[in-house]
Amino acid sequence: DDGGAAQGILRRQALRESAARIYARALPIVPVRARGMTVEGADGRRYLDCLSGAGALALGHNHPVALDAIRAVLDAEAPLQVLDLATPVKDAFTDELFATLPPGLAARARVQFCGPAGTDAVEAALKLVRTATGRDGLLAFSGAYHGMTAGALAASGGAPSSGVTRLPFPYDYRCPFGVGGEHGAELSARWTEKLLDDPKGGAPDPAGMILEPVQGEGGVIPAPDGWLRRMRDITAARSIPLIADEVQTGVGRTGAFWAVDHSGVVPDVMVLSKAIGGGLPLAVVVYREELDVWPPGAHAGTFRGNQLAMAAGAATLAYVRENNLAERAATVGARMLDRLRQFATGRRWIGDVRGRGLMIGLELVDPEAGPAGEAGNAAPVEHAEVGHPEVGHADGAEYAAGAGHPEGAGHAAGAGYATNTDREGTPGRAS
Ligand code: PMP
Repeated sequence: DDGGAAQGILRRQALRESAARIYARALPIVPVRARGMTVEGADGRRYLDCLSGAGALALGHNHPVALDAIRAVLDAEAPLQVLDLATPVKDAFTDELFATLPPGLAARARVQFCGPAGTDAVEAALKLVRTATGRDGLLAFSGAYHGMTAGALAASGGAPSSGVTRLPFPYDYRCPFGVGGEHGAELSARWTEKLLDDPKGGAPDPAGMILEPVQGEGGVIPAPDGWLRRMRDITAARSIPLIADEVQTGVGRTGAFWAVDHSGVVPDVMVLSKAIGGGLPLAVVVYREELDVWPPGAHAGTFRGNQLAMAAGAATLAYVRENNLAERAATVGARMLDRLRQFATGRRWIGDVRGRGLMIGLELVDPEAGPAGEAGNAAPVEHAEVGHPEVGHADGAEYAAGAGHPEGAGHAAGAGYATNTDREGTPGRAS
């Protein structure tokens, strides 16, 4: 019977696969069929996929629009892999992609097909800005996730790495400055400005700034629109390319086609994957044409011409755009946030309910500790010293506690803000 067969599959795979497995441990199911939001296990049970296929499915599982597009490529016996040759399928995908981009970028954009995963496109973006600027450093944020390859990993939070200056992401619930809200976001922006303008080289040689408009793996943390605009202004004023990693936030999920659209920010580079392939692996980096300084052959990859993914992706992008599904995600998401917040009332193990559109998260906490729990501060904020944030430090705790750079007193902002009670946020005041 299917139940017995499923148990056998689970047992054998548990013995043969790596210890890195995560979902397989928490969900001992054997999915065999899926449609829309529903995944059916071999035991006949049905599950709701609240992760949308790890974000790869803007239309749910096996949407007819994506399936028909895949079948059309197969029926035509079109080549499945075309490297970077031009094809009708790629032409249609590129048309659709450019039709969705922020107009300020689309007007003068270039696309590099990478592949097959989001992390590949992140690598390409980092390489591109380094080539274009001739600089080597990188500005990235606490709690960020950009992938599992070396460069993308280095840009992610929790991974100390040379050359990456870690900046505080405006994480309201666990504000690194201890104030939260717009004020916390503004302090994050000022921290960034101070570092960039630090004559002692607080942020060495930045080739770019990479950010997620809504942090995904970091815990569904939407960046305030005003903060994103500040980052745009700060980077533009210093000729630092701004890279928006929309691998997870794209294709309508947050209630706008791209999450940067909420703020009107036009990044110099956009990293796109997951849902753009309609469920199949596809990743691209899109950028302002002035950055296109690569000589021929400077970037390659065997799977950069996956026609099944481009066809499924083009059909998905078109369907989302033509049916205003981003708007629908905004409406349904607002309703869902509202209901979840009602649900959370009085349940102290739910620390926070947040999100944008249908990208929504509940933060589960130790009811006694609240935001000060696990990820809480290394030192109570009252005892924080003014410190210079050290390159490579990974999470918010360090900002609140002060990184304690020996030369930091007087010119760093973070810990000073954490102890600032008048909320004016004058850098360094609390020392
Ligand atoms: N960037 C972001 C924002 C992501 O969420 C992810 C994947 N969760 C990646 C990059 C990496 O994509 P992939 O897993 O396809 O390499």
